[in-house]
Amino acid sequence: MRRIFIFPFLVILFSTPALKGQNYQAFFTDSTMRVDYYHTGTAAEEIFSLDQVYLEGPWPGSKTRLLDSLHLGKYLARVYDVQTDQLLFSYSYNTVFGEWQTTSEAISGIKRTMHESVRFPFPRRAVKIVIASRDRKNIFSDHFTTVIEPDSRFVNRESKHFPFTVQKVLHNGDPARKVDLLILGDGYTQEEAQAFKDDVARFQKRLFSVTPFKERKEDFNVWAIHAVAKESGIDDPRAGVWKNNLLGTTYNSLDLQRYVLTTENRMLRDVASMAPYDALYIIFNAPGYGGGGIYNWYSTCYAGESKNIPEWWSLYVFVHEFGHSFGGLGDEYYTSDVAYNEFYPAGVEPVDPNLTALLDKDNLKWKHLVQPGTPLPTPWGKAGYDSLSLQLRLSAADYFKNAARMDSIRTAIPVSRVGAYEGAGYASNGLYRPAIDCIMFSKNIVPFCPVCAEAIDRVIDTLVK
Ligand SMILES: [Zn+2]
Repeated sequence: MRRIFIFPFLVILFSTPALKGQNYQAFFTDSTMRVDYYHTGTAAEEIFSLDQVYLEGPWPGSKTRLLDSLHLGKYLARVYDVQTDQLLFSYSYNTVFGEWQTTSEAISGIKRTMHESVRFPFPRRAVKIVIASRDRKNIFSDHFTTVIEPDSRFVNRESKHFPFTVQKVLHNGDPARKVDLLILGDGYTQEEAQAFKDDVARFQKRLFSVTPFKERKEDFNVWAIHAVAKESGIDDPRAGVWKNNLLGTTYNSLDLQRYVLTTENRMLRDVASMAPYDALYIIFNAPGYGGGGIYNWYSTCYAGESKNIPEWWSLYVFVHEFGHSFGGLGDEYYTSDVAYNEFYPAGVEPVDPNLTALLDKDNLKWKHLVQPGTPLPTPWGKAGYDSLSLQLRLSAADYFKNAARMDSIRTAIPVSRVGAYEGAGYASNGLYRPAIDCIMFSKNIVPFCPVCAEAIDRVIDTLVK
């Protein structure tokens, strides 16, 4: 149904000729423009209002693929040339505000404001910025329009100075032709500089040991900035712990203990502006299990060691959350508590490349990866998995006994057998995942399923040409 509803909108986007490489220089300089705005509302309403416009360093994204072709986000920012009305650039993304809108607080009518940014190549002449957001049926509508004169006094040109060094962790070439991953360290004091370096090394080694990142390592640059904190650690409100950490990451985001996000967007973007980046990752120096990942926004992952948690858990979190923030992947699990209410509305096809409501079996979005003869939905022993999962939640002591039995259900069918397996996206029924197992499904060191791996490959392709 979604395809039918948004078809007219897509036609408009795709019928606009993409800017060729030589046209980049006609419309843009080599710098970056950052537009900051406030996003206010409840579950049912939203208002965008302009904050500030900034000149930032060299544009790190592609100079030939300026229009978003994937449409994986809830929001779509478009940049038009005012003189000709030509679409010059588009960018799709999710935000903390968008997720917060599905919480009970937002549904109860409480209003909140969050600070957000969009970045694009710095225009040579006046541009119009339009931001659209999707409703619960995934239909885009425009919510914000503003015109920016790039030469005007309303563009802030001060350069941000922090006493931090930009560390070149992995360098494979020109940022315009590479995926630039910027890892920021939060909650590390000056004395913990080496711990931050060690954590960056550990995580990036893990990321590039996993398909498809392993095969595409030469398409990446990795940068790191230690955003030095006055105190070691990050906020943990349920434990009464409050730390003076620069980037503002905190446990219990959206009132879910393990969910770690920051709403200090201006500080985050100011620090990040020191380095080129297509993707942001914040690793935070605290031992409690936690993290988060929001598409084309940022990921977070805990990095401290704990006696109570196996070390591989943080390696799992690092890769899983990057699946969200970089690949636009949805969660395939459905047996853990989340902060959301009906995150994926019933009867609406999710935009996530690895989730389907299976409303139209003949046009399953990953049908090219399904072997002929595979039944849809695909049987997989769900009833047994569900009853074990329930026991596991009731009694942590049974974890290892039951985990082994759950492993046997998860491995009964090869991961390569792509189909439509019921149970995904926080819903036991009505949503389907592409394979029996995937790192977006299991809290385990398992691979991305073929559909997720392919979706990540597609994102890499958009950034390296
Ligand atoms: Zn998957």
